[in-house]
Amino acid sequence: MDKKEKKEKVIEVLNRARDMELMAIGQYMNQHYNLDDRDYGELAAQVKLIAVDEMRHAEMFAERIKELGGEPVASYTDKVQPGQDVEQVFTFDTKLEDDTVDAYNGFQQVCRDAGDGISAQLLQQVTDEEQSHLNYFDSVRDHIETLGQAYLAQKAGTPSDTGLNTQGFVARQSGD
Ligand code: FE
Ligand code: FE
Repeated sequence: MDKKEKKEKVIEVLNRARDMELMAIGQYMNQHYNLDDRDYGELAAQVKLIAVDEMRHAEMFAERIKELGGEPVASYTDKVQPGQDVEQVFTFDTKLEDDTVDAYNGFQQVCRDAGDGISAQLLQQVTDEEQSHLNYFDSVRDHIETLGQAYLAQKAGTPSDTGLNTQGFVARQSGD
């Protein structure tokens, strides 16, 4: 591969990553409206904050694509599934984040093979955040599975307000 081909390979995987982020944003927004509508406020708020993280990821990938002289393009290959019930939401999201971690690990390797350490590092940083999302979704999924209605009853009627602060999930976890 010559230098131009290497760069194009990196731009291609960054665009695929960005596409996955855009799909996740749409899916998580749909879910947080529905969770809020069903009065699971706390769950709605966390899913909303995770969608905010995904937007930041999409922007980080777009910025890097631009730096490399590419153009951010989206194909929305995975369509958003509307109207999932609360059990489906957390099973679906756990799998989505798990698939994302796998995909981004592969993309990191593509960047390293192309000699682009900066893009590989960017993907590494975002993958760490996807792992935090995965941990959260998986713990809720597990609570619903083991505690069922008792767990959901605790979440019913909790506030969904995330305030004016638009920091996402990861920033709040680390208390920044
Ligand atoms: Fe993301
Ligand atoms: Fe994520």
